[in-house]
Amino acid sequence: MNVADSDWLTRSLVSMGWEPAPLDEARIYIVNTCSVREKPELKLYSQLGRLAEQLERDPEAFVAVGGCVAQQLGPKLWNRFRMVRLVFGSDGVAGAPTALARLAAEPGLRLSLVDFTENYPERAVAFPDDALPAQAFVNIMQGCDNFCAYCIVPFVRGRQKSRKSAAVLAECRDMAERGVSEITLLGQNVNSYGLDAQGDGTSFAALLRLVADIPGVRRIRFTTSHPKDLPDEVIALYRDLPQLAPSLHLPAQSGSDRILKRMGRKYDSARYLELIAKLRAARPDIFLTTDLIVGFPGETEKDFQDTLALVEKAGFDSGFSFMYCDRPGVAAERMEGKVPLEVKSERLARLQTLLDTLKDRDLASRIGRETEVIVEGRSKIPGNGAVSWRGRDPAGRVVNFPHSGREDITGAYVTVKILKAKKHSLWGKAGERHD
Ligand code: SAM
Ligand code: SF4
Repeated sequence: MNVADSDWLTRSLVSMGWEPAPLDEARIYIVNTCSVREKPELKLYSQLGRLAEQLERDPEAFVAVGGCVAQQLGPKLWNRFRMVRLVFGSDGVAGAPTALARLAAEPGLRLSLVDFTENYPERAVAFPDDALPAQAFVNIMQGCDNFCAYCIVPFVRGRQKSRKSAAVLAECRDMAERGVSEITLLGQNVNSYGLDAQGDGTSFAALLRLVADIPGVRRIRFTTSHPKDLPDEVIALYRDLPQLAPSLHLPAQSGSDRILKRMGRKYDSARYLELIAKLRAARPDIFLTTDLIVGFPGETEKDFQDTLALVEKAGFDSGFSFMYCDRPGVAAERMEGKVPLEVKSERLARLQTLLDTLKDRDLASRIGRETEVIVEGRSKIPGNGAVSWRGRDPAGRVVNFPHSGREDITGAYVTVKILKAKKHSLWGKAGERHD
């Protein structure tokens, strides 16, 4: 989401005539932040410390801080860092370009855009030049109503508000006309799209069908899904909608029913595995990934063993695992049974070893197959004399391959035969190109 917000902000500022500049030449710095875990928040402070030194040379240069840490701290940030003149949260992104223009014209002014809006804050269309990269993100909602016990998102991104389907479709159409062929729909919990007061009667399944009808859209992805809200209509689309990429990120968080209850996730491991079975029945080649938290307050070795067992049973192709960390204001912050750091990191290492094994197994299973790769750009892996390129197969795996010819094939679709599995990616031989 932050990548999508930063992309829009960049396009918007470029449309206003501003230019991106190298770090040591810039006069305005925009730092977009995340506060889901503690580490990115600490990174912001060290980044601002570095910028403070740099900005001493240029008293008119200033910094804008956006995203969830900005939302969390608001104007407190500018008490500590004098050169910060704008703070904006997720609902403030839409107003950030105008605010930046005002600040550039009025030295001494400071602005804060951290109020939550009632409706989805529509952003002006910002396409500085006609052509766009082949892959794009489109927001379909903002915020979240779930209040999972560990999560800061509802506090820093506000309550769920769906974007009107007409606006989502207009943006997708606009993008497709400018060369976008792969669209990723974004929301904290896309499966509950349309179910809040701002919904316009279009369900998430209906929205997926409408996006698939847009000429030029070849691949659709979405993130993130909450297992409690994944409806059969969406699962069926994995069978019925060829444009829907065969991949799903379905955060399980834990395999222990006791911990899932404490987390307030509203499903148990049996329900989760039932969903996995239905998804595999609808699309046998579906690539499944997940998020898992270790060391949630009260987690015992037995609970952790249940998580390992769930991972094995679900047979994920890959996954992200995190050590639980307290976030300000969340329910788990006040829970008893905090797990010591050494125990959390030992569990994390064991879980990551298992996830790595599953990932290796998935990548190895691709050897010998042909797949369609959307090219994202040049690859760093040497191509035996030819230029090598990096792209993604329909499931989202990274595929590198050499390609003869001098032209830039970014955005093209190329058939690639997989020859080798590396640690995080695949290596193959290019066949036909079919854009
Ligand atoms: N909305 C998504 C969902 O419901 O799964 C993801 C939200 S969150 C931005 C991304 C991931 O960060 C979560 O799936 C969770 O695994 C992890 N996470 C969130 N809060 C955390 C915390 N306090 N400590 C550790 N990991 C956390
Ligand atoms: Fe956080 Fe996702 Fe739970 Fe919402 S559904 S509270 S974003 S983990």
